[in-house]
Amino acid sequence: MRKVGKIEYKKIARISPSQFYSMTNCAYKSLLAEAFDKKPLLPISPNAYLGTVLHKMLELISKKEIKTDIEFNERFEAEILLIEKELKQTGYDIFVPLYMNVRDFGIKKIQLKKHLKGAAVQSNQSGNIKFIPEQWFESKDKTIGGKIDLIIESENEIEIIDFKTGAITEDIFDDNGESYQDIKREYQRQLKLYAYLFYDCTGKYPTKLSLVDLSKQKFNVEFSKQECDMIFQEAKALLIKTNNSIDNAIFHANPSESNCKYCLYRPACSFYFQHFKGNNSLNDVCGFIIGVIKYQNGNVSIFIRNENNKITITGFSADKYEYFNSNLNKQISLFNLRKEATEFIYSVIKTTAVYEC
Ligand code: SF4
Repeated sequence: MRKVGKIEYKKIARISPSQFYSMTNCAYKSLLAEAFDKKPLLPISPNAYLGTVLHKMLELISKKEIKTDIEFNERFEAEILLIEKELKQTGYDIFVPLYMNVRDFGIKKIQLKKHLKGAAVQSNQSGNIKFIPEQWFESKDKTIGGKIDLIIESENEIEIIDFKTGAITEDIFDDNGESYQDIKREYQRQLKLYAYLFYDCTGKYPTKLSLVDLSKQKFNVEFSKQECDMIFQEAKALLIKTNNSIDNAIFHANPSESNCKYCLYRPACSFYFQHFKGNNSLNDVCGFIIGVIKYQNGNVSIFIRNENNKITITGFSADKYEYFNSNLNKQISLFNLRKEATEFIYSVIKTTAVYEC
């Protein structure tokens, strides 16, 4: 069982365009991430680990370090092995092998291979077109910085491309309640911020902003220079405000189901606990241990008093019995449980984490 301890807040020196959207939703999450040296307090989804490999492969393809099917397969294997080694070293061997723990692992690999074809076309282009992969850009005041996946520069056009390994569009509802698909707002703002960084470093705005998904579909993001400038100012103001909250020791967070659901710093967030007090909708439970049972098959269940409810949590391994039994009446928080069909009954899953309060 882990304990969060005292939180030592640290100022955030710089934010990246990809971090900006999450910070807009809840800046306190970024402060917690900084305080814990960006080491999440809850397990990261195995999908995110595969996403890292996919992104790395896209980077290598656009750098033309991988050109053939054979090179692709060898490198993909090597990258997966590397990430699986890291998972084992960090105590997350529960996600190894990755292909057993990520949905659509094979499909994603096949989709990724389609990018090889594009890379072959790129290398055949005339010398007038430059392909610049993975270049770092930072605002002059050093407050915002990030790597642009790919820049394609020709005589009359500068295109900034950001690769995404997940869905690029989302359902949007108009005033009449009709739904339509549009590019995710967070991705649009991220690209516009990259456009500003490019301008700040080169004195020129790109002419085109694009998002490319795993199946090589390209989505164009409309933009104006004013918009990009405004988003940069907004990001800068947010960074200053967030850092000021440390000086003033007055923190604000924005707890909500959508913001907190995937927040890996929930165990350290008092706002979260306050907001979701007695509400277990996110499958986290906080309460006092009031009983422990070890069954003949070795499985252990515990009983938690949460507000006025008695909650049962099943599926702990036998070695946890002693710990829970010697900590009766202690307050604990359990994250990432599975809700069972019967009310007030939960079970432990691979990613369940237990923290002392
Ligand atoms: S748990 Fe929710 S409120 Fe707390 S930092 Fe994370 S997103 Fe923000």
